[in-house]
Amino acid sequence: MLKKILKTFSLFELVKGLWLTFTYMFKPKVTINYPFEKSPLSTRFKGEHCLRRYPNGEERCIACKLCEAVCPAQAITIEAEPREDGSRRTVRYDIDMFKCIYCGLCEEACPVDAIVEGPNSEFTSESREEMIYNKEKLLANGDRWESLLAERLRKESKYR
Ligand code: SF4
Ligand code: SF4
Repeated sequence: MLKKILKTFSLFELVKGLWLTFTYMFKPKVTINYPFEKSPLSTRFKGEHCLRRYPNGEERCIACKLCEAVCPAQAITIEAEPREDGSRRTVRYDIDMFKCIYCGLCEEACPVDAIVEGPNSEFTSESREEMIYNKEKLLANGDRWESLLAERLRKESKYR
């Protein structure tokens, strides 16, 4: 009983807590000053989608629709038509980013590494419409991130 009273009046618990806080002042920080500092990102990170091109600028996508078929969220909508040269290309490629669960199955199903999930996780919008990504937006993302995407795919190639 006396021990308890002494502890209460000496503010023992408070001093103990402050001491613990004080000791952490000299330990290495485990937090970062986001968004000015960023933590390292795995090459397997599944972020915003991109449609890639070949170095000559031609779209990689051959409109096989495997990504559309495998998508568990049914977030991908593709329409395709043959071109004059007989090659098959999409005329519509939409991803509903609200439906997407970022599972990466579309990326895994693609035989030509056309649809990939890039390193960007910092995307948002003020309307639902903006989160329906169309082909132009996806190709623009691919152009923007191509060097990083190619590097990530190269690093992961032996595990695929
Ligand atoms: S990441 Fe998964 S849910 Fe999102 S579009 Fe690709 S397959 Fe569909
Ligand atoms: S992105 Fe890949 S899997 Fe999807 S339709 Fe194009 S080629 Fe086929």
